Amino acid sequence: MVVVTLENVDKIFPPNVVALKDINLKINDGEFFVVLGPSGHGKTTFLRVLAGLEVPTRGRIMFDSEVIVDTERGIFVDPPKRNVGMVFQNWALYPHMKVFDNIAFPLKIKRLPKREIEARVREIAEILGIGDLLDRYPRQLSGGQQQRVAIARALVKRPRLLLLDEPFSNLDARIRISARAFVKRLQRELKITTILVTHDQQDAYSVADRLAVLRRGVIQQVGNVEDLLDRPANLFVATFLGDPPMNIFEGKIIREGGSYIADAGSLKIPLPDAPSLGGYVGRKVFVGIRPADIYIAPEPQSREHAVLRSGRVKLVEVTGFVTTALVEWDGLEARVQVIGRAPEEGSEVPVYVNVGKVKIFGDD
Ligand code: ADP
Ligand code: MG
Repeated sequence: MVVVTLENVDKIFPPNVVALKDINLKINDGEFFVVLGPSGHGKTTFLRVLAGLEVPTRGRIMFDSEVIVDTERGIFVDPPKRNVGMVFQNWALYPHMKVFDNIAFPLKIKRLPKREIEARVREIAEILGIGDLLDRYPRQLSGGQQQRVAIARALVKRPRLLLLDEPFSNLDARIRISARAFVKRLQRELKITTILVTHDQQDAYSVADRLAVLRRGVIQQVGNVEDLLDRPANLFVATFLGDPPMNIFEGKIIREGGSYIADAGSLKIPLPDAPSLGGYVGRKVFVGIRPADIYIAPEPQSREHAVLRSGRVKLVEVTGFVTTALVEWDGLEARVQVIGRAPEEGSEVPVYVNVGKVKIFGDD
């Protein structure tokens, strides 16, 4: 329904809290876009700037070709004129109003005729599967039902953009999974451009077409889930994403027998044959290896995989279908995958590594 463009957007709260720094983004028509970042790093501020509840300190925002904010030209379109639906983190339902009146509220403010309000509320309530709850008060609803009421209230105005602030964080684990699937399906059906912010990776992966990782108000990387997990742009993205997260070793790169090796002290890690590694020789680096790319097994799973020095198995963990082990080499530790029979805790075993997947990050 709308393409959202942000150019050089900053938001600084007085005296000098930098909540957003030089945000440049283009969110596509009908896209489900997610902003993922730790708590306190600017996610809610990002949504509030789009909704018009905060004035950016600098920058330009456009909905399609319409300029919504331009600090240089003094343009600021007021929230009601933006036609954006927002679901707040705590849902912010009016406790003294029935579900019907909660959903109808934005239309009453717009002074729509009563008959139209009635029809629109019933229509959106049906779409959200809460048509039989209209006479209840919010306190008489489950968490999942309250969330649907909040979404219905955001959608009843037929907004061109839907903003969702941590919509699943108030739901317990079981309902959370079905709520994600529901929101994803709804977005697909309505084809409404949607931006969701969350600190939770699983929330993000389950709905996102594309994601941006936000750290201290700065976008670190934009891409789909695979881009972020397989090709993290920096050490922050590499360690913030992934469950379990990437193993990180501090070391330096040396050249040995025509190949690059990361020297992490008690562990020497072979590296892929990439010319770009030359620039890191002699410098302090961080070596990242996902638990899926380092493993204990009776034999290597491919000719391209290399064997590392044997390590001592500290702990074996069976989680669902996957078994992992914590392996130690004189003070260095890694979480590794176990293929085949689980090793004895305390035993010394060879560890294999998928060399092509080893990542190097600079010291920044
Ligand atoms: P998140 O949603 O990622 O948890 P927020 O966008 O709420 O983060 O906050 C980002 C930063 O901006 C935090 O340091 C927060 O304390 C600060 N902040 C947010 N709103 C205000 C405000 N109205 N006044 C001052 N500082 C604020
Ligand atoms: Mg927030």
